[in-house]
Amino acid sequence: MKDHIETQAIRTQLERTQYQEHSSPLYLTSSYVFEDAEDMRASFAEEKERNIYSRFSNPNTTEFINKVARMEGAEDGYAFASGMAAVFSTLAALLDSEDHVLAARSLFGSTHSLFTKFFPKWNIHHNYFSSTADPNEIEKMITSKTKVLFVETPTNPGLEVLDLSALGQLAKKHQLIFIVDNCFATPYLQQPIAFGADLVIHSATKLIDGQGRVLGGVCVGRKDLIREIYLFSRNTGPAMSPFNAWVLSKSMETLSVRVEKHCENALKIAHFLQKHQKVTQVRYPFLNSHPNYQLAKKQMKLGGCVVSFEIRGGIKAGRRFVNALKLCSRSANLGDTRTIVTHPASTTHSKLSEEERQDAGITPGLIRVSVGLEYINDIKEDLLQALNT
Ligand SMILES: *Cc1c(COP(=O)(O)O)cnc(C)c1O
Repeated sequence: MKDHIETQAIRTQLERTQYQEHSSPLYLTSSYVFEDAEDMRASFAEEKERNIYSRFSNPNTTEFINKVARMEGAEDGYAFASGMAAVFSTLAALLDSEDHVLAARSLFGSTHSLFTKFFPKWNIHHNYFSSTADPNEIEKMITSKTKVLFVETPTNPGLEVLDLSALGQLAKKHQLIFIVDNCFATPYLQQPIAFGADLVIHSATKLIDGQGRVLGGVCVGRKDLIREIYLFSRNTGPAMSPFNAWVLSKSMETLSVRVEKHCENALKIAHFLQKHQKVTQVRYPFLNSHPNYQLAKKQMKLGGCVVSFEIRGGIKAGRRFVNALKLCSRSANLGDTRTIVTHPASTTHSKLSEEERQDAGITPGLIRVSVGLEYINDIKEDLLQALNT
């Protein structure tokens, strides 16, 4: 098969059944049948590669996994009910009591909660480094117990860009398992394995679905590590449903065109916001004012769908702006066809202390826009009238 990512996203497909269907059917089945007792024994003993039970595998989840794995340049993968199920199960499968995780501080809220509230119950500890830390500073934080290096890039909602190849080299030197949550970039914009990542995680709920319909998660990467994650998951049950896998595999067929347009619209919105007198700062990886613009260009194809900006007047101005929106949705999702606006300081990050918010780059007037696929001037018009309110 041609190895272009657009073609892989469309042509990675299950074998046709006797009905010669063009598009993959939906396999809603919880279990599978065996020829005889010997077939059943050999299947459970894993002497045969086949479906046994849909908590372990299902044709639709297999198609979805194979697609993401191909696009990410990964050997294997496993699909989960949500992005958080993917993050939790991956880490829980690989970490033992007393192990240590080193992570960049700007993390998705629930991932931060895993490290601070839940993993300590099992005596698994972490340290955070700043997204702007250089490799020498990070290296000094590695201990004999450090097993995993975990990052997101670009970060949410600060849109900092971390140097994947520098982190990959560091992980290799110290034999750490390097895990990248690639949700903001999608496999279309950035393939962390090429820069040294061992595992890549996605919340498929975001741009992979892209239409705000289903939850999903996936982890792809090194075969030996995926094997551990598979064994953990086959016993603990976080598997993606076949229905969601079918929806998500269909969504992937249009990922490249959707993401191209999201990025085109997002860059236009970023330029538009830069010119408004009530906006003090605009962050977008592909703006040349971004501190890591060169790095973003090196490791990403385009800048992504999220733009964040600072509105003059702090929390009050931020809330007023959000209230005045007429077209854009006030919602917590991102990567949807619909433009979504959030005010992190009063919502997603309101439970953090002032200091934690500052560390994560969340100022009182910060607004996050997940730029959708509506007609560009309609999005601009709505943002403009809300800014002028
Ligand atoms: C949304 C998100 C998650 C969690 O995914 P769910 O599908 O909502 O469980 C993890 N990481 C990042 C970066 C996200 O944006």
